[in-house]
Amino acid sequence: MFQNHSFLKNIVCTNCNSQYNINKLNNLCTSCGKVLFPKYDLEGAKEFLSKVLIRKKKVYNIWRFNEIMPVINPKFRISLGEGWTPLVKLNILGRQFGLKNLFLKDEGQNPTGTFKSRGLCAAVSKGLELGVKDFVMPSAGNAGAALSAYTAHAGAKAHIFAPKDAPEFILKEIDVMGGDLVLIDGLIDYAGERANIAEKENGWFSVSTLKEPYRVEGKKTMGFELAEQFEWTLPDVIVYPTGGGTGIVGMWKAFLELEELGLISNKRPRMVAVQPEGCQPIVRAFEQGKKSATKWENAHSFAGGIRVPSAIGDYLILDAIRSSGGTAVAVPDSEIKTAMYKLARTEGIMLCPEAAATAAALQTLIENGFLDKDEKIVLFGTGSGLITPNDW
Ligand SMILES: *Cc1c(COP(=O)(O)O)cnc(C)c1O
Ligand SMILES: [Zn+2]
Repeated sequence: MFQNHSFLKNIVCTNCNSQYNINKLNNLCTSCGKVLFPKYDLEGAKEFLSKVLIRKKKVYNIWRFNEIMPVINPKFRISLGEGWTPLVKLNILGRQFGLKNLFLKDEGQNPTGTFKSRGLCAAVSKGLELGVKDFVMPSAGNAGAALSAYTAHAGAKAHIFAPKDAPEFILKEIDVMGGDLVLIDGLIDYAGERANIAEKENGWFSVSTLKEPYRVEGKKTMGFELAEQFEWTLPDVIVYPTGGGTGIVGMWKAFLELEELGLISNKRPRMVAVQPEGCQPIVRAFEQGKKSATKWENAHSFAGGIRVPSAIGDYLILDAIRSSGGTAVAVPDSEIKTAMYKLARTEGIMLCPEAAATAAALQTLIENGFLDKDEKIVLFGTGSGLITPNDW
């Protein structure tokens, strides 16, 4: 055992438990078509990873937790400084809602302005390690921008299929960083079909949300950081703007791993998924008691990152929400917009619509008695309002 070791053990299907080779590129399970997750030798890692060792680390990006990340050779762990984002206490906004311990994990401070950088940093690094030169994905914009940044940094190529109504500035970001951008006349799921075709035709590696097992590992670092920032306890409630669900599913995975490593207790936050009223497949499935979601027809919302009509990881999202005693709520676009201004004016934090949706959900969560005023509540501010100048 040595510093810089990864305890990656295998790649396992979340549905049927089929196992896959860690030295080959993986996408979905070839037996059942569901999502694959990396698994680690947590027994081995436990001997090595202590709170003291973690505190001494001088790495303040997603590779702070390299032992339980999927990249084996340190030279492929690229970074643009993603992760280790601040946990900001929202005193004024909290007071307005009568909440004493309201926090924001400010993911807007990531490279390219959103937490998408965490996942794409992990996926591009792992792809590089396994010899990939061309990456492909459908994106509402933010993931494409993050992919373009990391592929540019690594000298690889990004191919992105985006809805043509994606925010103009984000499309520009992709173009400026050298991403090969194809605009699609349709929503994200149609862009996904086009990306699948291009993937097969060209032999590119698809890094579409949860269709490969590495992005989720980048996103799970949000869970690791929360635990460390709260002195190895977890908050009572996490409010998360849910699209494809990588973040909620990733954090849930992180908490299980931290518990197995003996770093936290078995107390979990209640996970709350927030979706826009115009596209709420997870909220509907949660309310109907379903294990998976059906496609949301005629999806609309200006919060493009959470305007996701169907998610391949729906069963994982619903499981995390239910096992945690959480809930799912929908918010109208008008209230998201109000929340954007409220956060900016009361706290000095400009968030993009998706991120502000978490604050918009607070009123409902208080009215239906879900939140207690003394609880530690963390809103996930998934992206900066600086990248959506036209939404102000
Ligand atoms: C992609 C995105 C989301 C949704 O994230 P998932 O983890 O895929 O559910 C939320 N907010 C922003 C800003 C995004 O770009
Ligand atoms: Zn399977």
